[in-house]
Amino acid sequence: CGIVGYVGENKSLEVLIGGLRRLEYRGYDSAGVAVIDEDGGLGVAKKAGKLVKLTDELEAHPINDGRTGIGHTRWATHGGPTDRNAHPHLGDDGRLALIHNGIIENFSELKNELLAEGHTFESETDTEVAAVLLGREYRAAGDLRLAFQRTVSRLEGAFTLLALHQDQPGLVIGARRNSPLVIGLGDGENFLGSDVAAFVEHTRRAVAIGQDQIVAITADSVTVTDFDGAVVEAEEFDVAWDA
Ligand code: GLU
Repeated sequence: CGIVGYVGENKSLEVLIGGLRRLEYRGYDSAGVAVIDEDGGLGVAKKAGKLVKLTDELEAHPINDGRTGIGHTRWATHGGPTDRNAHPHLGDDGRLALIHNGIIENFSELKNELLAEGHTFESETDTEVAAVLLGREYRAAGDLRLAFQRTVSRLEGAFTLLALHQDQPGLVIGARRNSPLVIGLGDGENFLGSDVAAFVEHTRRAVAIGQDQIVAITADSVTVTDFDGAVVEAEEFDVAWDA
């Protein structure tokens, strides 16, 4: 039930795990991370159970660290709390990773459409449908932001989504509908979180994202748009926090 994203000059694994630890109070049954490494490879680790299961997994089977990453804690709604159902989920060419909090109400309709086209699935989650749809749209659009726009426009329900693609290292893209997402502004780095706890160790400068908006972060830029891609003004605020 927590989401964190990072792009910047530092390695991301520590930022992601630290953020997930700060979000633990919300409860969860599984955790996972995806990182684009320096060579543009995509590394994913995910485990059912507490965060320590994920950190043990990362010790046993390390992934390359990098400067672009996403992290997730899951509260299962569709598909039991298993390693396979844990997020991130990949597009069916394995080149993009996506995480989700919430419920995609029309997932079975979308899944049938994708199955009919020959796409395959590895989990029982509603979330993987969004990942596979994003992969299909990426192949059509050749651009993550446009593909993401087209994907979220097809989804009904409640979602905070983050995605990254190994062809566009240095970019994390997110969206929200009926579910929270906040930007953390850093110096040469930017963050996303389902709440400010995800990044408050690193910055107190935050930007709220409105209903039905998309955000794209790089190390030195933040762009917020609506689901049609029109840029919207977003307002900065200071996080009051005494922990
Ligand atoms: N509905 C998704 C799942 O069951 C996301 C649950 C969540 O909010 O963590 O995997």
